[in-house]
Amino acid sequence: MIAETIAPGALKTEEEHRRDICTAGRWLRDCGFVVATDGNISVRLDSRRILTSPTGVSKGTMAEEDIVIVDLEGHRLGGRRNPSSELAMHLLVYRLRPDINSVCHAHPPTATGYAAAGIPLNKALLCELVIALGSVPVARYGTPGTSELTAAIEPLVHGHDAILMANHGVVTYGADLLTAFHRMETTEHFARVSLVTEMLGKQMLLSGGDVEKLMAARARYGPQRAPVPKDR
Ligand SMILES: [Zn+2]
Repeated sequence: MIAETIAPGALKTEEEHRRDICTAGRWLRDCGFVVATDGNISVRLDSRRILTSPTGVSKGTMAEEDIVIVDLEGHRLGGRRNPSSELAMHLLVYRLRPDINSVCHAHPPTATGYAAAGIPLNKALLCELVIALGSVPVARYGTPGTSELTAAIEPLVHGHDAILMANHGVVTYGADLLTAFHRMETTEHFARVSLVTEMLGKQMLLSGGDVEKLMAARARYGPQRAPVPKDR
């Protein structure tokens, strides 16, 4: 039975993480953020092991036993299936950001449209978006599953928690799986609102002073650094 909710926090048992990954996979599918076998989700299990969704399986119908365990070099340590084809991108984020314990990759249609147009989500249109994500840049195109893709993402990982991948999709990450998923939802929502303002032909941007106040609030209330799950 797949749980309906994901509790916040990264300090969970392996079984809880497996259940959460299946739940998040179903949410990604139900939100229309992935189709067919698209997308991938991972969670940092401890300092040397990552739990990842398998390749070639609908993220909406994964079972807990489908989840694969890999080390930080991508070698499979457990599980019957092959790990996600975009595993190298997830591992890059974990190596560069010790504060990150979960990564989500999906193809939400509106944000992916911006990625395909090469347009970043960097306009100060929504106060809550500035607090939640700052801005969402576009990484240049890289062939999926290759070092081209990780090289394109790498310079942006430190400064951002959500990245549009040109001609491809979106990657988000956070201190726990719930945060990574919420950032995917927020990125798609922002893309939809941006598109509506463009259809209306008018955008009233927040002033520089307003953005400064929001960035100060982001520093106070924004993403908190979370502990890395302990070895077990
Ligand atoms: Zn993809």
